[in-house]
Amino acid sequence: MDMLIWNCRGALKPTFCNIIADLARTHSPAIMILIETKVCGDRAKMIVDKLPFDGAIFANTIGLSGGLWLLWDSSQVAVVELSSTEQEIHVVCTLAHALQRDVFFGKICLRLPGFTPCPGWWQGESVFKKGSKWIVGKESNLSLWYDKWLDKGALRSLIEGPLNRGEEHIKLKEVVNFSGWDWQSCSFTLPDKLRMEVKATPISFTAQNFEQITWSSSPSGKFELKDAYKIAKMEETGNSPGRFNGDWIWKVPTIPKILCFIWQCFYNSIPVRAVLASRGMEVPISCLLCDDGTENVIHVLRDCGSARSFWDSFPPPFPTAVFYRTNLIDWLRLNCGSTKSCVSTNLNWGTVFSFGIWSLWLRRNGVLFRGERPNRNVREEVISKATEFAYVGINGKKT
Ligand SMILES: [Zn+2]
Repeated sequence: MDMLIWNCRGALKPTFCNIIADLARTHSPAIMILIETKVCGDRAKMIVDKLPFDGAIFANTIGLSGGLWLLWDSSQVAVVELSSTEQEIHVVCTLAHALQRDVFFGKICLRLPGFTPCPGWWQGESVFKKGSKWIVGKESNLSLWYDKWLDKGALRSLIEGPLNRGEEHIKLKEVVNFSGWDWQSCSFTLPDKLRMEVKATPISFTAQNFEQITWSSSPSGKFELKDAYKIAKMEETGNSPGRFNGDWIWKVPTIPKILCFIWQCFYNSIPVRAVLASRGMEVPISCLLCDDGTENVIHVLRDCGSARSFWDSFPPPFPTAVFYRTNLIDWLRLNCGSTKSCVSTNLNWGTVFSFGIWSLWLRRNGVLFRGERPNRNVREEVISKATEFAYVGINGKKT
């Protein structure tokens, strides 16, 4: 199947339709994805009516930018929309001509101008396979062994040992009918647990003739981004869902916006130069403020000259070697989770620390981007905010 992706930078250009027609003639793509169309709704539909595709999904534009279209040729591919936002369209595509039901999951991300298929694009396929399953109908041609009609996965992946000759071609409809399961044509005895699982799987002999794809974990069968995210996260970390290793962050005694900031620091996601460069932006990585060292998260929050004198002014309740030599993750965790008292104020160090990194970050941005004068009273400001939080905010978080 061929798929074309084009950052067209505006679909209202006079040459737009001709270019698409040429591309379609030359490549016969099953799917064409257009980004930055800057047009949506009825106007988009009017344009697409002139194009050689008979299926279309439009995501809304974001003001005068954005605009994402997914077009397809239904003689080659069937597309079912799962959900869409201004930045993403989620679909299930079934190849019309494929003998086997080759399903893949398209995740279209529009986060950066210029669009590069992000890892999520390719990861989407396995996420989809894990999260979805077939609902069986009475005319279903699903394979007993190889199609995923159980929540846990294809039956073949759940048993060990060889199948008898010819047995791998058994269709699901040959072993199940109105009167229940009939395993005679199958030499394999399933383990009890699996047999129960099979029995518990609802099979419709009335409503639907053919099988339908469904999202396993949702009661309605509709795709849910939240679950897909969990599966993707699980694949990435090898953890079971929910065992996110930054759980401690949400217990830090501080205000919600700082919790979010700590979370962003933890994931190396605040826009310092080294982070921007690692994401493909062409920026120098030396510190904009001191020009001495790489501008990464730990430099900005701890090692840059002014940050260092800020911390030294407390000082932190840890030996200098520990405070200044740990890596970012350990440093955040050690300090945010500390129940020690701040030497000069008797406040909880975790609270003081969290207000400290937040104020350093705000001050840095103020100096660099708004031309503010370096505020010499950051220490006092942090202590006053942390005190206020400790006495007012900790119990009554509404303040
Ligand atoms: Zn610096």
